[in-house]
Amino acid sequence: MIKRKTSAYFWIALLGSIGFVAGVVMTIFGATNSKTIMLVAGIILIVFGFYGAPMFWIKYGELKNYSQICQKVQSGINTISLLCSSTGKDEKTVRDTINICLQNNYLPNYVLIKNEYIVKAEGIKQFEAKDIATLQGNVTRQKCNQCGAEIVFDGTNRVVCPYCGATNLVEPKQPENSNKWE
Ligand SMILES: [Zn+2]
Repeated sequence: MIKRKTSAYFWIALLGSIGFVAGVVMTIFGATNSKTIMLVAGIILIVFGFYGAPMFWIKYGELKNYSQICQKVQSGINTISLLCSSTGKDEKTVRDTINICLQNNYLPNYVLIKNEYIVKAEGIKQFEAKDIATLQGNVTRQKCNQCGAEIVFDGTNRVVCPYCGATNLVEPKQPENSNKWE
């Protein structure tokens, strides 16, 4: 959906800019040949090309940015910190962008958990309550149980190590104050 919207803005902006050039030609031709309709059409194209097209280019740039970050999330780069390192942008910028994408439904069915994890809402249903607690307990990275590489749990409780192929499960962490209740 975001992709289609982005390309629509691109084509309107492009046609507007081309129309501006065509408008200049039409205005000159219409004026010198007393062709009023062509003159008026030329002026309309100039006005849109001058005032409208830049707005569409700016909006296109914004949408392209949203589209790129949505693609990253959908390809599995779905924590705020990973998106920061992947885009080179600061945390606030990335979080604001993600919130705009979520509000506009550019990332359908995704939710932002604990201001950090962007996960598919239907994936959450598969979690037990303790898994969500674990996820929210800032467990994002873990050493692979086979090769020791750092692996990231991206909203699932089971991750296949990208380096050695071993299956890793989230190790539940006891909350620090758990003794308090015993
Ligand atoms: Zn491994």
